[in-house]
Amino acid sequence: MIKFLDLKKQYESIQTQVDNAIRNVIMDSAFIGGKYVERFEREFADYIGAHYCLGVANGTDALEIALWSLNLPKGSEVLVPANTFIATAEAVSRNGLVVRFIDCGEDYTMDIASLEAHMTPNTSALIAVHLYGQACNMHEILEIAKTYRLKVIEDCAQAHGATYKDQKVGTFGDIATFSFYPGKNLGAYGDGGAIVTNDKSLFHKCQMYANHGRSSQYGHEFEGINSRLDGIQAAVLSVKLPYLDQWIKQRRTIAQTYMDALKDISISLPLIKENVGHVWHLFVISATKRDELITYLKEHNIQCGIHYHTALPKLKAYEGIRQDCSHFKACKEDKTLLSLPMGEHLEKKDILCVASTIKAFLHQGL
Ligand SMILES: *Cc1c(COP(=O)(O)O)cnc(C)c1O
Repeated sequence: MIKFLDLKKQYESIQTQVDNAIRNVIMDSAFIGGKYVERFEREFADYIGAHYCLGVANGTDALEIALWSLNLPKGSEVLVPANTFIATAEAVSRNGLVVRFIDCGEDYTMDIASLEAHMTPNTSALIAVHLYGQACNMHEILEIAKTYRLKVIEDCAQAHGATYKDQKVGTFGDIATFSFYPGKNLGAYGDGGAIVTNDKSLFHKCQMYANHGRSSQYGHEFEGINSRLDGIQAAVLSVKLPYLDQWIKQRRTIAQTYMDALKDISISLPLIKENVGHVWHLFVISATKRDELITYLKEHNIQCGIHYHTALPKLKAYEGIRQDCSHFKACKEDKTLLSLPMGEHLEKKDILCVASTIKAFLHQGL
């Protein structure tokens, strides 16, 4: 079986360290807050190259809290990619703001022309999602944001350690969010997330909002929520963080092997931009007979994924939006996308096996 993801195998490679880290948290009863959380927050801020990091309960909360901290005018519009996980858009609606969908370009990240085309006088912010582990064109996005005075939130849930022009994502916008969902490139052993920023006042606002509006133990200045990264997750993440660059390197080798083995056939491969350090959270191809191909691969013991099955504007949840997105590339192509197995659990022979199985499928179809 060639697995899409193999977290058990990863655990076995760092088992002693993880087990010790978890035991230490329990022995110190540092379950909520405390030194393990503080330590990881500092380490992750350093890794990203940002001043502040706040651990929160998950990547969805991170987005909601980060947006809240920007204090955008109620009812104003926030530009969100049509092809992302629903959490990106949910954060907008949950803050009393209006979702406005943007199309993607050839690399599946936010299309710059679409961004400008959907701007209105009521637009207050944009969320740049570094989809699949590839950075958005941040310099162009920041240029537009400056012209139209928009706040920029980076959703880095799939892009820990990814770069744009040698600068890590999460350091371009006003504020950035990460997810440590177990399957992400840096994953906890449960839910987890983080907010990263260079802006001290935004950081403090997020800190208070995520902690019941507290400024001190008994001083609640406003109503907030409870959203925290717990000690055990933080300790696990501290064990894993030093391995992240090595795991990214392995993902890059795998991606290159796929690219070489799958060229010149009738599926489209990921478009890799020149000025980015792609971290390959997902290796997504596009095939016309996608569903048949998935079934064929499954019959040959190869697990695949779909990201995303239905573009957001076509979901029931967004029936109410007054925006016709039917002409979007993101909405037309969602039925062709397929994510191949990706992760440091894979060996070269696995990749070659996936590639030859895809070729056999295409050949059979002729
Ligand atoms: C995973 C993900 C999220 C949500 O993260 P959770 O930790 O699962 O809440 C948000 N945005 C994107 C792009 C994601 O991939």
